[in-house]
Amino acid sequence: MDYIGRFAPSPSGPLHFGSLVAALGSYFQAKSQQGTWLVRMEDLDPPREMLGAADLILKTLEAYHLFWDGEVMYQSQRHSIYQSQIEQWLTENKAYYCQCTRKQIKANGGYYLGHCREQHLQAEGCAVRIKVNTPITEFYDLKHGKTAIPQAIAEEDFIIKRRDGLYAYNLAVVIDDIEQGVTEVVRGADLIEPTGRQIGLYNTLGQTPIQYLHLPLAVTENGAKLSKQNHADGISIENPIPSLLQAMQFLGFTLPESIDTAKIDEIITWGIKHWHLTQLPVETQITTLFSNRVS
Ligand code: GLU
Ligand code: ZN
Repeated sequence: MDYIGRFAPSPSGPLHFGSLVAALGSYFQAKSQQGTWLVRMEDLDPPREMLGAADLILKTLEAYHLFWDGEVMYQSQRHSIYQSQIEQWLTENKAYYCQCTRKQIKANGGYYLGHCREQHLQAEGCAVRIKVNTPITEFYDLKHGKTAIPQAIAEEDFIIKRRDGLYAYNLAVVIDDIEQGVTEVVRGADLIEPTGRQIGLYNTLGQTPIQYLHLPLAVTENGAKLSKQNHADGISIENPIPSLLQAMQFLGFTLPESIDTAKIDEIITWGIKHWHLTQLPVETQITTLFSNRVS
């Protein structure tokens, strides 16, 4: 089967060092296997998005010579597809409306325990949850091997459409990965836990689950994922090479001295040629002590 991979950023801000690592890792993994590399914009949550971030992310990928194949897919244009799947599951009694508030769930220990499963509620003011009858408590990760998922997370009937009408990440990501024929997901280790839910949705949809590879996550000294809040500034578009080399070192490459005088396309080509999963650090988090303002 031909390899199809993807990079799926959420346009909540410019591309920062952490997202560059995910972009590069998925790119090298695809291109080292002569695969296709797609970009999908996960613009599902407008209140969290920054105006212009999607275009900025695409421009930044181009500046780093990470050229995607085909057209960029935008999740904001796919609401009707998500909605019809949800309606089908509601009809088939595979999903149901839930009116529990976050506060109520918190009071019950933080996990939703199926309170509304048999209540046959109406849509008004409700979220939609999928019935999890066969929890996925482990999966095989290409770097980490057999990977366990906490039981409580695996068992929870999780939300596929929020009370505010927004479609949930787990739903959209699976519908779109299937639609785009993705054969392997390469992304940050912060998404190990939802992987079980996503594999569950493949099963519910009668699809064969795909392969997963989780990359180390760049975190700050206090263990937080790089984000807009903790000086994860956008990486430089004008001077991409320093960030590119740092991200490649983060992914475990030992760079030759000659790389110092190489052009960006030569660096990327070198990376494709030398990418091996054995060199990728096995840690799920790596503290990045530097600020991302490299230029
Ligand atoms: N959009 C998600 C993020 O930016 C990534 C989704 C995925 O790769 O599955 O965190
Ligand atoms: Zn409920």
